Amino acid sequence: MTDSTPQLVYFFGLGRADGTAAMKDVLGGKGAGLAEMTNLGIPVPPGFTIPTSLCIAYLESHQFPPRLRSQVEHALQRMETATGRVFGGTARPLLVSVRSGAALSMPGMMETILNLGLNDTTVAGLATESGNPAFAWDSYRRFVQMFGSVVFDVPKHHFERLLEERKSARSVGRDSDLPVEDFQGLVHDFKALIRHETGKPFPDQPTDQLWGAIAAVFESWNTRRAIDYRKLHDIPDTLGTAVNVVTMVFGNMGDDSGTGVAFTRNPSTGEHQLYGEYLLNAQGEDVVSGARTPEPISTLNDRMPEAYSELERVCRTLERHFRDVQDVEFTIERRKLYLLQTRRAQRSGHAAVRISCEMVEEGLISEEEAVARIPPHDLDQLLHPTIDPAAKLDLLTSGLPASPGAASGAVVFDADRAEEQGRRGEPVILVRRETSPEDFHGMVAAKAILTARGGMTSHAAVVARGMGKPCVAGAQDLSVEEGSQRFSVNGRMVAQGEWITVDGSTGRVFAGRAGLKPPAIGGHFDKLLSWADRFRHLRVRVNADTPADAHKGRDFGAEGIGLCRTEHMFGTVGDPRLPIFRQVILAAPQARAAQLALIDAEKEASEARGKAKRAAEETVKEAKAALKSPEVRPYFEGLKKLLTGQRRDFESIFKAMDGLPVTIRLLDPPLHEFLPSSKELELAMATPTLKASKDVLREFGGKRGTEKVLREVLALEENNPMLGLRGCRLGILYPDIYRTQVQAIIEAACNVKKRGGDPHVEIMVPLVATREELTAVAADVREVAEQVLGQRKMELPYLVGTMIELPRAALAADEIAEDADFFSFGTNDLTQTAFGFSRDDVEGKFLARYLEEKILPMNPFESLDERGVGDLVLTACQKGRKTKEDLKLGICGEHGGDPSSVHFFHNAGLDYVSCSPYRVPLARLAAAQAVLGEAETASK
Ligand code: ADP
Ligand code: MG
Ligand code: MG
Repeated sequence: MTDSTPQLVYFFGLGRADGTAAMKDVLGGKGAGLAEMTNLGIPVPPGFTIPTSLCIAYLESHQFPPRLRSQVEHALQRMETATGRVFGGTARPLLVSVRSGAALSMPGMMETILNLGLNDTTVAGLATESGNPAFAWDSYRRFVQMFGSVVFDVPKHHFERLLEERKSARSVGRDSDLPVEDFQGLVHDFKALIRHETGKPFPDQPTDQLWGAIAAVFESWNTRRAIDYRKLHDIPDTLGTAVNVVTMVFGNMGDDSGTGVAFTRNPSTGEHQLYGEYLLNAQGEDVVSGARTPEPISTLNDRMPEAYSELERVCRTLERHFRDVQDVEFTIERRKLYLLQTRRAQRSGHAAVRISCEMVEEGLISEEEAVARIPPHDLDQLLHPTIDPAAKLDLLTSGLPASPGAASGAVVFDADRAEEQGRRGEPVILVRRETSPEDFHGMVAAKAILTARGGMTSHAAVVARGMGKPCVAGAQDLSVEEGSQRFSVNGRMVAQGEWITVDGSTGRVFAGRAGLKPPAIGGHFDKLLSWADRFRHLRVRVNADTPADAHKGRDFGAEGIGLCRTEHMFGTVGDPRLPIFRQVILAAPQARAAQLALIDAEKEASEARGKAKRAAEETVKEAKAALKSPEVRPYFEGLKKLLTGQRRDFESIFKAMDGLPVTIRLLDPPLHEFLPSSKELELAMATPTLKASKDVLREFGGKRGTEKVLREVLALEENNPMLGLRGCRLGILYPDIYRTQVQAIIEAACNVKKRGGDPHVEIMVPLVATREELTAVAADVREVAEQVLGQRKMELPYLVGTMIELPRAALAADEIAEDADFFSFGTNDLTQTAFGFSRDDVEGKFLARYLEEKILPMNPFESLDERGVGDLVLTACQKGRKTKEDLKLGICGEHGGDPSSVHFFHNAGLDYVSCSPYRVPLARLAAAQAVLGEAETASK
């Protein structure tokens, strides 16, 4: 090859390869792995790789570059030399597999063709050479079958049907039990089928077969399931797949041959032990397809001890070399071991954490690497629910524990339906005889997956583990009748729509909805997170409204509460506080009017003289009386009762978060959320005899009272409540509500402190847009707080800050900071107001389309929109800190638990993120990774 010829083919074999593991982008993962193994001296059958760039070029032009042909021929000659075989030869024919492989692992996404090079002449050579005509013809019919479905697109079930017919005619269970005449017949039938379906003849020339297969691999880059997979995993469509052409080795030559899959450690539990499955007398696809249930790898040691210890040795070498757990494919041909693939093993979250910790102990990786390696969402799996041991269970059957965690849902039998129901938010469990890549979209939508066939490395198991979903595979007693939408097991029948519970950690399947229990954490999990805590700069707090959530957050390592919403302290439906708060709301306008009248009258009385003064004093008297009137009294009485209740709530929250900061948000939602709707009231008046109506009428004082309430409710109704009378606007219109809350907070803190506790109070004002709003509310807050502390003669530091959740507040942050001790970004509302999106409306109506058409790159409510909302955050940080250098900055929207958003907040220089309890561990890990990622770039 001269220098001017671009290298279009990368050879591997005879202990040396053109490529290396570093060339994944060029050779794809599979090709790079084959090259690296060859370089390591591991036995790999010789072959070559056509690089990924040619895939994209081919898909555009549908032509191969001119020099590819000669380079492929040259590589084939080298394979012939290495093996002493001839491609298309009558004796010792060289057969190859043609395999796809992209830069990123896309398991099961693209098709492989085995035994290519067989035709009526070469099959005779193979039969003679092996002394086993049945084997030779079985290999041939497999080839025609795979070629027919991959290259000619003939549906697989056509081939399966012909095969099944032969098997039932002979009453045999396994393909390999058929006699040679049947394989010969099948080759003939398959070719006839292909011609019938496509009108084209089957190519007999090995070279034609090869080029057809190469083109088909390239084309498979654009199959629906490949596109879906890339979309889900954010893999660019422009990467392309490489083609690997590999000398065939045969695991189906008899009982001294076999094929299997092995993991250098257990991918489900992380246990440090060779793990995997194999089948004797079988070819590659047989293990993964789930058609036969494979045997555990440990038994290989009894059958073929030399091959087993060779496999162990190779696995050790690979793990040391890659410093990570590998997932390998191997074939044993007449007792000789060959490796056909190695890649970084997919693993459960449990395994990922255990493996990382143990590799640190073994000195294989550093603590930083251990922390940097765990995808934060893997921790979700450790936090997965398990079945409550106290639950009453109705065991249906059991299978293999293929992917941990437990889930309940309605049974569905096909992927489309799973997708449809899943999209509506209904929990479904996908039940299949076995899954194939065509089921992928349904697996994404399902809560768990259950299959009747297949092992721990079946398609269902591998994909479920990758997605962190519970999966039970190979539940052999299950008889799935996909056609009639039901399954039967041990004499019981379960139809579509019935609920079952799947426990992927134990392999058990139960009828109905079993009680689930939150997971127990500790051990490796704690160790890994304690390393993460050493590296991170961001603090992590929890969003908690109740002492129970506060405790949960603390257990997960939260360092305070970043958001304590107080709305539920005013009561929810069925709660005795709700009618009290309703009293307050309904009397509030009159009470406020009376208060304002009194202030005006007192002012006038102090300024006026003579007759006018007497008149003004009379008005003062009237105003004072109005404040005691029966209409207004419930207002003050109600507030007093709410004070007592909230004080108790705050005491228990401060106790739960003793010694750590607690940010309490003053009442935020619009008042009408606490009132019945006008529809409800109108209905009650129209149908006074109904039971529900009677309750309403009783609460609001009969027909007359209810009519009055209806008027108030109508007055409070807003076109756009999200942008209406809520947040600090309430605090300004009806100051007593916030004043009561502040009194409750400070009194609670005093009580806790008096009993030896250490409360750290942060009072947060919601929905501020202008500095003046905050000035007004903060003055009230500080006045009440000082009053309480003065009365109690106690000292207690407390902070008064604001949420930044409106674009104007972000832009005016320099002014707002003058009155604020801290900012907390409410990124949920900030995203709504920055986009002008009402979350519930857009998520229900058009967000899915926006994502599909890539008008939005991701859901901005899940992952922070860095360009827009992120810019507002950065602006507010800069402006705020310009005014106050030590301004405390945090974020309490849902983005506080999203790993990529956490990276952004780290870079923005925030002091803390706050998120829901179950996300706290994720945020701790992501915050450490933000620092370690920085270190990585710095050292480059
Ligand atoms: P996938 O990416 O779906 O795993 P592979 O290309 O790895 O597809 O191959 C599918 C199956 O065929 C695997 O079990 C693999 O080990 C086996 N296989 C591929 N090439 C060969 C070969 N040259 N000889 C024997 N088995 C092979
Ligand atoms: Mg493979
Ligand atoms: Mg808000």
